[in-house]
Amino acid sequence: MLNKEKDGDFESLKEKLLAEKNNRCLKLDKKQINLSNKFSEGYKEFLNKAKTEREAVKEAINLAKKAGFQEFVVGHRYKAGEKVYYNNRNKAVIFAVIGKKGTQDGTKLAIAHIDSPRLDLKPNPLYESNNIAMFKTHYYGGIKKYQWTAIPLALHGVFATKSGKVLEVNIGEKETEPCFCVTDLLPHLSKEQMAKPMQKSILGENLNVLVGSRPFKSDKGSNLVKLNIMKLLNEKYGIVEEDFLSADLELVPAFKAQDVGFDRSMVGAYGHDDRVCAYPALMSILDYDKVPDKTIITVLTDKEEIGSDGNTGMNSAFLRYFIADLADVDSVNYRHVLTKSQCLSADVNAAFDPTYASVYDENNSCFINNGVVITKYTGSGGKYGTSEASAEFMAQIRRILDDKKVLWQSGELGKVDAGGGGTIAKYVANLNVDVVDLGVPVLSMHAPFEVISKIDLFMAYRAILAFFS
Ligand code: MN
Ligand code: MN
Repeated sequence: MLNKEKDGDFESLKEKLLAEKNNRCLKLDKKQINLSNKFSEGYKEFLNKAKTEREAVKEAINLAKKAGFQEFVVGHRYKAGEKVYYNNRNKAVIFAVIGKKGTQDGTKLAIAHIDSPRLDLKPNPLYESNNIAMFKTHYYGGIKKYQWTAIPLALHGVFATKSGKVLEVNIGEKETEPCFCVTDLLPHLSKEQMAKPMQKSILGENLNVLVGSRPFKSDKGSNLVKLNIMKLLNEKYGIVEEDFLSADLELVPAFKAQDVGFDRSMVGAYGHDDRVCAYPALMSILDYDKVPDKTIITVLTDKEEIGSDGNTGMNSAFLRYFIADLADVDSVNYRHVLTKSQCLSADVNAAFDPTYASVYDENNSCFINNGVVITKYTGSGGKYGTSEASAEFMAQIRRILDDKKVLWQSGELGKVDAGGGGTIAKYVANLNVDVVDLGVPVLSMHAPFEVISKIDLFMAYRAILAFFS
């Protein structure tokens, strides 16, 4: 409440009653800025090692093992403070620190996704046309197709052979290795292409990737360039053409994470959505140094970019089963555990971009450097396709963040009818869990090179840590 004597003047009224939106990072002291910079170094390393969901799971488990996490054993009675992980098919992973009360009063969850938009290889990708060997691709997630032409791409993933071997592929990241690319038409001959609407100027079917051009030396036969590529792949991996059928191969941008701006305040990289939340969600459970009251859980999930379906996505029962396994040992029904649980759906939001201001509502957008963003609801049109956090849960989150002096802001995706999008929040809400989206504002979201602020990244870490505490 206002104090009539003290708060009569403009400045104190303003401070007390109005929410400040501009340059909120000025509230931070030097120490917080330095810690943000330091935290982003570890993040860049993680980004460079984890460009796909498989690589993210592998790297996350590596880091977790160093922090004392052990593989979860169903039926084992864990003591408070014990740290476990559950690897779901090398594409999703759950980390938990057992609480003093176990699961009795619910759990605290932070869930982020580790899949990002990219070009997947088709099951039968390799072909030759006019003496050029190429891969057919099928794009994954929401991309603006023109952004994926004429940039260096790297091939990541695995071949699983009939003999039971799983061969890892990672080619195009080092300067000494070859990379790949999708070609685009020269401007001189693009009169027709450039007159088309953007959606039709580059077609999904035309995102073909250049993989070779030198023919196998022979005086007869066709498809000699393709044959030569297969010969090289056979020498390197021992595979034959049919092995592409049992492979998960993804083409991702070949560039590394790098500071952006003269002031080095930002990081540019492929796959910030959603590793910029996955990394803080992971590090906050790894760095959690007390024994929590309630069991705390970080989930790194797959398939968010294509609707969370599939056995490694949040529509799958894998999280429910894991919580049921914890609940069984505590002799509690998992339904009651879920009902009392709370979750941060750690995902990105669209940062206000002054160049494209017309699609944002300035009063309800998030801005880079203003801290971690809480998003009450996502969806599109008349709030379709979203869960909405309740007023009460929002109040609780505000209190937690303010108590721990975490810099935060609120944000909606954009103007009401400008478009829309969703997160995993609604799938968690459907399990009768309280959930809200919290994450990092991103510029150029879903582009091969996305940009975030180091301060916002660090605040996401501090926010999740505060929620777990
Ligand atoms: Mn996302
Ligand atoms: Mn996304």
